[in-house]
Amino acid sequence: MVRKNTWTTYNQRQLKEVNKFAEEYKNFLDNAKTEREAIDEIVNEVEEAGYVELSKLIGGRKKLKKGDKVYSVWMNKSIVIFQIGSEPLENGLNILGAHIDSPRLDVKQNPLFEKEGIAYLDTHYYGGIKKYQYVAMPLALHGVIVKKDGTTCQLSVGEDEDDPVFFISDLLIHLAGDQMSKKAANVIEGEALDLIVGNKPLVIENETASKAKSSKKNTKLTVGQQYAMDEEEKEGAEKKKVSGAIKRGILAILKDEYGIEEDDFLSAELEIVPAGKARDAGFDRSMILGYGQDDRVCAYPSMKAILKAKNLKRTGVCILVDKEEIGSVGATGMRSHFFENAVAEVLNLCGQYSDLALRRCLANSCMLSSDVSAGFDPSYAGSFESKNSAFLGGGLVFNKFTGSRGKGGSNDANAEYIAAVRKVCDDNKVNFQTAELGKVDAGGGGTIAYILALYGMNVIDCGVAVLNMHAPWEATSKADVYEALRGYVAFLEDMDF
Ligand code: MN
Ligand code: MN
Repeated sequence: MVRKNTWTTYNQRQLKEVNKFAEEYKNFLDNAKTEREAIDEIVNEVEEAGYVELSKLIGGRKKLKKGDKVYSVWMNKSIVIFQIGSEPLENGLNILGAHIDSPRLDVKQNPLFEKEGIAYLDTHYYGGIKKYQYVAMPLALHGVIVKKDGTTCQLSVGEDEDDPVFFISDLLIHLAGDQMSKKAANVIEGEALDLIVGNKPLVIENETASKAKSSKKNTKLTVGQQYAMDEEEKEGAEKKKVSGAIKRGILAILKDEYGIEEDDFLSAELEIVPAGKARDAGFDRSMILGYGQDDRVCAYPSMKAILKAKNLKRTGVCILVDKEEIGSVGATGMRSHFFENAVAEVLNLCGQYSDLALRRCLANSCMLSSDVSAGFDPSYAGSFESKNSAFLGGGLVFNKFTGSRGKGGSNDANAEYIAAVRKVCDDNKVNFQTAELGKVDAGGGGTIAYILALYGMNVIDCGVAVLNMHAPWEATSKADVYEALRGYVAFLEDMDF
């Protein structure tokens, strides 16, 4: 089988478009470091493109027709976008799906504490991370704090050049004899991921009070005893000045700058992510190094594809969901019914709703379940089987299956459907490759594919190859990102299976 390098397939015009799209994508990565921020960015873009929020149409008189564009956001963390096609919805949808949550550290609900003169926020990591990768680097804090009166304070600290950043300490190499002999899984324990947020006590000087104290002398003591007593008093006063005062200093800043009190952490969602922007990588600027490309590298082109696709026969859908990294659970994960409910509402607004129509619509649908693929890494070649690996620059990746230990937990795309997908790619000159997640029994992983497959629809895992997946900074090929966009547009416009 001949593998094409995507770069060699582009003409000058396309090379320009690759770079233009990469710039837009990097910008998205910078502005959408959390699922909530991703939703904000996406809603801005789809609104600008003329998409209308579904809830504004429900209960109204307007019926949806061919070419109409609607979207529905669930709890500010998931979104489903529809572009109505000319065929009845019963014939099925062409669905692009991806996730917008990424591995990170979450701030605990009672997080703030002080230890030996340093103030910390306690964390609990989210998703699969190598914990040792999160120490000794600049980190930023993003998220929301919702107060009891319902007002929301949005936080993003550490991204602007003059913002402060935060960090987690690591033990100096000079004293790391014991640490270095530990297994990588235990080098940094989960409970040691404490974010350093301050080191300066809140001191409100009260000189007159301290002067008054020191003038009280006890005349019955010897000179030596008096000296010892004075020292003790000084020590106590100094201790009092500092103990707890670092935490108090942070509390004062939080209250002054954000209007937040310590109890407000109880109803907060604060995420700690690597601070800084996505960058071009390599002398040839062929790659992008950035945080959270799993799975924004699929989510962004999916969203752009539905904006770009035109004159759809089958209704086009783009689902971007939360919670994939912890098993697609919760009200905003793929296992929630919000997607099915949104499809029912759209059917209703098209005047086509019945329970049977909904079932037929979902069962007759075709889906690309997009998530990142493990890019073949020559430095760790032993973990891959190269014939069936995804290569950076090799184009859009299709995985017939994922899973682990004999495909456990996987969706397994039908050969008939894969043939139809191949045809769409070849007809539109989309460069693609097929891959498994590493060599047999090296490990494994899952995606949202199996959840949509529960409806009986055709689903295939698809995506973009990534190096350093789940690391603070992940790498992709600009050509693959652009090829994903092209492949997704082709799928929305031409898939008819
Ligand atoms: Mn992942
Ligand atoms: Mn993923």
